[in-house]
Amino acid sequence: MGTLEGKTAAIFGVANHNSIAWAIAQKLAAEGARLAFTYQERMEQNVRRLTTNLDGALVLPCDVQSDSDLDTTFERIGQEFNGLDILIHSVAFAPTDDLKGRVSKVSRTGFTTALDVSAYSLMAMAGRAEPLMQARGGGSIVALTYLGSERVTPGYNLMGVAKAALEAAIRYLAWDLGPQKIRVNGISAGPLRTLSARGVGNINDMFTLIEEVAPLRQNISQSDVGELAAFLCSPAAATLTGDIIYADAGFHVMGLGTM
Ligand code: NAD
Repeated sequence: MGTLEGKTAAIFGVANHNSIAWAIAQKLAAEGARLAFTYQERMEQNVRRLTTNLDGALVLPCDVQSDSDLDTTFERIGQEFNGLDILIHSVAFAPTDDLKGRVSKVSRTGFTTALDVSAYSLMAMAGRAEPLMQARGGGSIVALTYLGSERVTPGYNLMGVAKAALEAAIRYLAWDLGPQKIRVNGISAGPLRTLSARGVGNINDMFTLIEEVAPLRQNISQSDVGELAAFLCSPAAATLTGDIIYADAGFHVMGLGTM
């Protein structure tokens, strides 16, 4: 029997088979969870195709910038699942011009959009998930982040600012929701080839650097993140909340690289 047998999970952020959210979904399903997927309109076909063989999966449209989409999504999940145990936030966006340009030149609308999609959305989801998780006696919320929130990573720019807000939100939500036994954690993943990662400069250089410098001398895979997410949602992580856990072969502990 899997560690998540009888649990229900809502997964935000599958775009295609390379998405981190898809790797997490597969692992949660393998551990026995029943899944609800949300998709951004242009990803509908991909998400429906990927999820056709998953028993009992719900597939719902949701633009995280829309309050009414979020309301409808959580209402539907509540009705269909009779509560919610797990929420995966694997969503981020920044307008290309603002992401690629200098941080000192980021537009007000670019900043607002990046923070809205990539950080506010976690708070908006958590508030709506709270009563559904309370109905189950608690829950686990996991959001995806990156080291560029704490250290300057050229090319990550505005997204680093958004991830810093996301990580602060994780800590404050952990405090807010802790009395309900709802845990909130972040996974800080190393670089992975996904649709979103195409918008970030220098990704090939990052792969090379990590192989040379990270303590484990390797890059990571989407399924590594899936394993960690499943752990964070399992009873084994029952006392873990408000934390950022690194899935990066130890890269974040390094000061200088190889000499
Ligand atoms: P991805 O492109 O597969 O996933 C990003 C998702 O965000 C897509 O499904 C997209 O539809 C969704 N999204 C964007 N705007 C949205 C909106 N307004 N409403 C609803 N959904 C919206 O890329 P990914 O790399 O799997 O990204 C998932 C998460 O992992 C992101 O938070 C990303 O920052 C984070 N992350 C990625 C890496 C990496 O190297 N790929 C590393 C660390 C963290």
